[in-house]
Amino acid sequence: MKKRLPVLFLIVLFISNYTIAQSMAEIVSAIEKEANENSQLEQLAYELMDVNGPRLVGTPQMKTAHDWAVNTYKKWGIMAENQAWGKWRGWERGITHVDMVSPRIASLHATQLAWNPSTGKNGVTASLITLPTVSDSLAFVKWLPNVKGKIVMVSMLQPTGRPNYNWEEFATPESFEKMKTERDAKEKAWRENFRNTGYTSRNINAALEKAGAVGIAQSRWSEGFGANKIFSAGTDKIPVVDLSLEDYGMLYRMAVKGANPKIKIVAESKELGEVPTFNTIATIPGTEFPDEYVILSAHFDSWDGATGATDNGTGTITMLEAARILKKVYPNPKRTILIGHWGSEEQGLNGSRAFVEDNPKIVDGLQALFNQDNGTGRVVRLSGQGFLHAYDYLGRWLEAVPEDIKKHIETTFPGTPGGGGSDYASFVAAGAPGFSLSSLSWSYWNYTWHTNLDTYDKIVFDDVRNNAILTAILTYMASEDPEKTSREKATLIGTSRRTGEPLSWPTQRSPNRKGGLD
Ligand SMILES: [Zn+2]
Repeated sequence: MKKRLPVLFLIVLFISNYTIAQSMAEIVSAIEKEANENSQLEQLAYELMDVNGPRLVGTPQMKTAHDWAVNTYKKWGIMAENQAWGKWRGWERGITHVDMVSPRIASLHATQLAWNPSTGKNGVTASLITLPTVSDSLAFVKWLPNVKGKIVMVSMLQPTGRPNYNWEEFATPESFEKMKTERDAKEKAWRENFRNTGYTSRNINAALEKAGAVGIAQSRWSEGFGANKIFSAGTDKIPVVDLSLEDYGMLYRMAVKGANPKIKIVAESKELGEVPTFNTIATIPGTEFPDEYVILSAHFDSWDGATGATDNGTGTITMLEAARILKKVYPNPKRTILIGHWGSEEQGLNGSRAFVEDNPKIVDGLQALFNQDNGTGRVVRLSGQGFLHAYDYLGRWLEAVPEDIKKHIETTFPGTPGGGGSDYASFVAAGAPGFSLSSLSWSYWNYTWHTNLDTYDKIVFDDVRNNAILTAILTYMASEDPEKTSREKATLIGTSRRTGEPLSWPTQRSPNRKGGLD
């Protein structure tokens, strides 16, 4: 009998290890099955992007999106609530209609910029004037009265509306080189002249308004066919519109060659005073370590030139879908699973910084946070963010991820801590293990990031599904891990590419809790 005990013990040990391994494999395959056979991604994307629309902080559509997220979680039996963390200038986009009314009629592709006051129904009709070439700020001040009663064109005339890749494919090499050389020279001259005015593209609109301009026309080309970046206006009363490269170029040529084009801007919007801003937080409570957390993270807000499909609709639906799947196949996690849909990332990580500041206990109990926010592509990069032992646990968790998902991911350990860029940085700055699930580009920077083209049709659902599976598995593994993750920081070696200073660990920053309000 005595001899047989250890054998029996070994058998029991073997069986229990086998059972753990088997249940892990079962859960992983249940996650994949649910994601592949019962995907809700298309429906979620439709409801969020097409029906709700863009999610600019302070707009009614941001609030309806938060309410939609809470209701969606409730439908799945997941607790969720909107947590207020600040106030913002309330504003709602209205009809924008811009037409050339002289010397001929043409409707133009134009968008009013965010937080720009209304022109009223009658709009503003005026001639156009381009910025002058000046030797210094004095000359510019002398010129300024010319803008009185005019709509000022503040962007450079682009020499080509074709992106480089198109030139590369079709131009003769000599012609491509010539175009680039000429364009570089033009851009350089434009920048120098802008410096001479004493203003920047950020503050010139206000100066032109003060000098009596009745409107501003810009074209912030994003170097892709039809793609412009759309941000905020920077004037108190007069309209600011972004025009397509094509329409802007036509008007610019006509203005400088003396055709005296007149345009009519109707840009109706509503000021809504001071409104509260929120994060939507969903919770699947932990059973064994309820005070330890795995957080799924994606900012919820967007700019509003389009519907914010890849910034950050895709990160948002990834986290929603991962949460839905986990609730179904892993309803009683060891650690608490939180899903954070942050407000106002676009104005400086405000929602997540507020959460970090307001919830020190959750930050202390953070096992890991997974953030996704750079487009629709499958995840291809994962950095340890400077945590010395990140390889141990992230490596362990990645082992459970199926090869066809894992094989795309290039890992960097221990990596360097992210100082900004997206919401994981708010947690890293507090010394907590936040990680970025970084995507393949799919032409994000030119075509969809903050542009008028960031719409449902750019979503690559196969890649987003891949990311939802990855997120769900990493969350499951992080929740089940017998060990709490280490936060020991690696010694940072080298200098910052941006500042040239020696690398240092980022420090926690407070959010702006009163945005766009004086
Ligand atoms: Zn984003």
